[in-house]
Amino acid sequence: MMPTRSACITLDQADPLAAKRSAFLLPEGKFYLDGNSLGALPKNVPAHLVNVVQSEWGQDLITAWTKHGWIDLPSRIAGKIAPLLGVEPSALIVGDSVSVNLFKLVASVLAARPERRTLLCLADDFPTDVYILQGLVRLLPGITLKCVTQETLPQALGAEVGVLLLSHVHYKTAAVQDMPALCAQAQAHGIFSLWDLSHAAGVLDLDLEAAGVDGAVGCGYKYLNGGPGAPAYLYLAPCWQHILRSPIQGWMGHAQPFDFSTHYEPAPGMARWLAGTPPILSLAALDAALDCFAGLDMRLLRAKAQALGDLFLSLVEAHLPGEFAIASPAIGQPRGGHVSLRHPNGYALVQALIARGVVGDFRAPDLMRFGFSPLYVRYQDIWDSVAILADVVATQSYMLPEFQTRGKVT
Ligand SMILES: *Cc1c(COP(=O)(O)O)cnc(C)c1O
Repeated sequence: MMPTRSACITLDQADPLAAKRSAFLLPEGKFYLDGNSLGALPKNVPAHLVNVVQSEWGQDLITAWTKHGWIDLPSRIAGKIAPLLGVEPSALIVGDSVSVNLFKLVASVLAARPERRTLLCLADDFPTDVYILQGLVRLLPGITLKCVTQETLPQALGAEVGVLLLSHVHYKTAAVQDMPALCAQAQAHGIFSLWDLSHAAGVLDLDLEAAGVDGAVGCGYKYLNGGPGAPAYLYLAPCWQHILRSPIQGWMGHAQPFDFSTHYEPAPGMARWLAGTPPILSLAALDAALDCFAGLDMRLLRAKAQALGDLFLSLVEAHLPGEFAIASPAIGQPRGGHVSLRHPNGYALVQALIARGVVGDFRAPDLMRFGFSPLYVRYQDIWDSVAILADVVATQSYMLPEFQTRGKVT
C-alpha cells in the first residue's frame, strides 16, 4: 500500500533521530538528498571555525599548535570517529585524502610482503580506488592488478594476492558487502583485506574489529559532514601497526618531529601515517561536525537510512511504475544510505529536480543518486521529493535546454 504524506509525518514524529535535524543548517525550501556526496553543514561548525581563525590563529599564532592542541588534532578527531567504525581510537588516524591513504597502505603492505605481487579489486569500484592501484602497478616492477567482478572474486583469491581492496557500500548502487565473510575468505589465503568505508561510515553500524578487517580508509566529507575536502581517515588492525610503515616518510609521521633528526624513525602508533603538516582549518571543521554523533547508537542510523530508502522505492514504484530501472538493492534488502535510479535522461532529470529544490546527483552514464542522511532527512521529505519527481517526469520539464549541459561536477 502506498504511504500517504500524513503517514510520513507520523513516522517523523515517532523518529528517535528527529531532534538531530535541528543541529544542521539546511537551506529553506530545499530537499537535500546528497549528504552521501557532501554532508550538510552542522550549525556548530561556523562559530568554531571563526574562533579557530580569529582567536587561535589570529591571536595565539604559532603558540596555538601547543596551546590549542592543533598538533594532536589528527589523533584527537580519530577518537570521535573510532566508535562509528567499531575500533579503538589508537588504531585510527585522520589526515590526507582517501586516495592518498590508499596509496600509503597498499604500498606499505606490498613492501612488507614482497612475495605477494598481485593486487585485487572490483572492476566497477570507485574510480580513484582503481586508479591508485593502477598507479602502484606503474611504479613498482613485478606488481600486477586483477580487476574482477563480484562473481569471479572468490576464484581470484590465492597465495599470490597481497591486498584485496573493496568498498563496503558501493558508490553507485549502495549494495553492502558481507564484510565478515569476505574478511574471513581473504584471511584464509593470507590476504590483507582493505576496506573503503566512504559510503558506509556515519550511516551504517560498523564493527571492523569483529569483522576481522586488516585496514580501512574513508571520507570525512560525506556522512561525517566534515565539509568540502575534509580530511580522510586511516585504520589499521593492531597486528599490523608495528609491521607496516608509510612509504611517504614525512616529518609529521616521525617519532620525534621536533628533534629535527636527519634519520627517519616512524612514530610508534598510528601517527606514523601522517605525512606533512595537518590542515588545521579543515580538521577544525571536521572536529566540530563530529559532535552530532556523540553517544549515538549507530543501529538507529542504519535502520532509518534503510527505512528512508525503502519508502523512496515504494513511492517511486507507486507513482512512476516502469519509469526507472532500480539500480539499488530492493525494498528490505541491505542497502547503504542512498538509492540509485537508471534513466537515459538521468542527467537532465537531476538538473530539473535541483531547479525544483530536490538536490540529488548524477553518476555517468545514466544513474540518478538520492542520498538519505538519517541525521537530517525526514520521511516527509521523501514523500515531497517523489511528488516533485513525478511532476518533472509528467510535465517533461527536464527536456528544457537549460538542463542538458553538463557541468564539471555532476
Ligand atoms: C568519495 C569516495 C572517495 C573519495 O576519495 P578522495 O581521495 O578522498 O577524494 C574514494 N572512494 C570512495 C568509495 C568514495 O565514495
